[in-house]
Amino acid sequence: MKKEVNQLKFFLDKIHLDASRLYYIATHDEKTGLYNHASFKEIFSLELDKAKRGKPLSLIMIDIDFFKKINDTYGHIQADKILLKLAQLLQNQVRKYDIVTRFGGEEFFVMLPNTKLKKARDIAERLRKSVLTNNYLRKYKVTISLGITEYKEKDSLEKMSKRADTALYAAKKDGRNCVKIK
Ligand code: GH3
Ligand code: MG
Ligand code: MG
Repeated sequence: MKKEVNQLKFFLDKIHLDASRLYYIATHDEKTGLYNHASFKEIFSLELDKAKRGKPLSLIMIDIDFFKKINDTYGHIQADKILLKLAQLLQNQVRKYDIVTRFGGEEFFVMLPNTKLKKARDIAERLRKSVLTNNYLRKYKVTISLGITEYKEKDSLEKMSKRADTALYAAKKDGRNCVKIK
């Protein structure tokens, strides 16, 4: 009987482990370990509900500058390591209730709940500078451009992303390695 109980316990533990692993795979980005876009959308919609009731909410869009050149110069395996290092750096630099996600390619979103635009700009500047001073990333002369926006009445994730993207585009146009607001 003890043997059967142990066997059952073993299978239940395995099922539990498989379920947690599947959940992790479904909600995280394989390359960076950050939340993937699907789970980001879910978390963001909860924050949008709070923003609609008056809580501030800001969004930062980040893009690595000249990442194609980094790939061409160092190869894509090294470029992937740079992507991972940057993801870890962003994650370590923000508060625990801020959500960092890989939007795809070499682009990231940072959701800042309870954060007004001015504070978001300070955080974005801090992120930009931390890339420049990071021991690993500075060896490859990595820089990032950032676009920020704040929740406005009747906003959606799509509308906010679009404004953050416009701001990011302005940062690229203005020479990269800088922060712009829209
Ligand atoms: P910009 O400063 O204007 O953003 O220039 P860029 O070169 O970063 O932008 P562009 O959109 O021309 O190229 C993005 C490059 O990022 C192209 C692609 O090879 C690379 N890239 C996207 N995703 C990955 C990835 O997962 N791994 C690697 N190694 N490279 C990637
Ligand atoms: Mg890009
Ligand atoms: Mg880029």
